[in-house]
Amino acid sequence: MRALRFAFLVLLLAGALTAQRPSTWRCKHVLAPDGTTWLDDMVVTTLLDRIVTVQPAKPDQQVDHDFGDAWLIPGLIDLHTHLLLKPYDQMKWDDQVRSESTELRTLRASKHALDTLRAGFLAIRDLGTEGADYADAALRTAMDEGHVRGPQLFVATRAIVKQGCYGPDPEDPTTKKGAQAVDGIDAIRAAVREQAKGGADWIKVYADYRHGKSGPVAPTFTLEELQALCDEAAKAKLPVAAHATTDEGIRRAVEAGVRTIEHGAGASEATLRLMKERGVVLCPCLAATEAIVRYAGHQGPIVERLNVGKIAFQRALAAGVTIACGSDAGVFAHGDNVRELELMVEYGMTPAQALASATTVAAKVLGSERFGAVRPGAIGFVVLRRNPLQDITALRRVVAVVREDNELLR
Ligand SMILES: [Zn+2]
Repeated sequence: MRALRFAFLVLLLAGALTAQRPSTWRCKHVLAPDGTTWLDDMVVTTLLDRIVTVQPAKPDQQVDHDFGDAWLIPGLIDLHTHLLLKPYDQMKWDDQVRSESTELRTLRASKHALDTLRAGFLAIRDLGTEGADYADAALRTAMDEGHVRGPQLFVATRAIVKQGCYGPDPEDPTTKKGAQAVDGIDAIRAAVREQAKGGADWIKVYADYRHGKSGPVAPTFTLEELQALCDEAAKAKLPVAAHATTDEGIRRAVEAGVRTIEHGAGASEATLRLMKERGVVLCPCLAATEAIVRYAGHQGPIVERLNVGKIAFQRALAAGVTIACGSDAGVFAHGDNVRELELMVEYGMTPAQALASATTVAAKVLGSERFGAVRPGAIGFVVLRRNPLQDITALRRVVAVVREDNELLR
C-alpha cells in the first residue's frame, strides 16, 4: 500500500513536470471493487493513464466530463486472443499461416488491437502469433512508444508444440508452422529460453493436439516434458498457459504446474477437482467454438461441439473451477470479444460472475493490480449506456473507453 501511495506521488509529480493536470469524470453509477454493487453519483479523477481517486461528487462540483446517467466499469480483459489472425471465414487458418507475410499480418494486427480497445478491452493476453514469430512483442513495443493504440498486451510469442502435431502440413517438417515445433526435453527448454528472450510474458504449450494430418487428438508431451517446460518457464519467471482438450492432456498440464487451461472441454470430474485444488484457471473459449460451428453452416458432426462445450462449461462451473474470460478472438472478429461473456451467461453464469471473469478474475491471472477494478492505481475505465449486471449485452453499448486521459468515443 505504501508503495502504491509512493507511485501516486511520483505520478502527481510527473504530471506537474509535464504540465499535465488531472481530469475529472462524473458518472451516475460506478461499479464498486466488489464487482456486484454500484456507487452512486461519483467522480473519478485520472492523471496520465491512472485513476487517482474515486469519490462521491460534491454539491455543484465542476468536472471535465459528465457521463450523466451511465454505468462506469473497469476495463475488460480477454485472456485468449490472437491479434495476428483474422477470422477464419475470411481466410482459412492454414492459408493465413502459409501464405501471408508477417509484415502484412502485423500491420493488420494493429487495427485488430484498436478494435479490441474500442470494445472496452483494456488488457489482453495474446496467446500465440500462429507463425508470425515475435510480431506480438513488436506490437507491444510500438504501443509502449505510443505509435499504436490498443489494450495492454501480455504476449506468448510463438507457442510450443510437439513435432508432427501442428499445421500447416504437420507431417512435413520443412513447411513453416503455426508454432515452434520441438521434440525432447532439451529442445523444449531451449524453446522456452528463446521465447523468453524474444519478449514472452507467458509461455503457451499445446498439451494435446491432432497427431499428424488427420490422426486423433491425443496428449503431445509427457508429464516429464511438461514439467521441464514449466520449470524452465519458472526460471524466467513466466507463467504457463496450456491448450488442452483431452482429460489426460489437461491432467498432465495441471500436474506439471500450468496457470491456465485453454478450451479444456474434456476434463473429467477428477481432473476438474484437481484444477480447483491447484487453483488452475479455465479459459473455455466458447465464442470460438460457436464461430467454427457457424462457419461450417451449422452442418455435420462439428455441430455437436457446441453441446460438448456447453456441458463442459456447466460441469466446470458446478465443480467450482475458476473460470476466466478467454474468447480465442482471431478465430472470429476482434472487437466481438464480449460474445464470450454473453455465452457464459447463456450457459448458466450470472451477469456478475461473467463480468468478474473478465475483470477481477482475469486481472488476478495476469497478476496485475492495474486492471480489474475501478480504484486508485488502475488503468482507465469503460462507460456503458445500460447496467451490465442486469443484462450482459449492455457491454455492447459502449459510450466511452477512457485510457491515458483520452476519450475514445464510439
Ligand atoms: Zn487460441
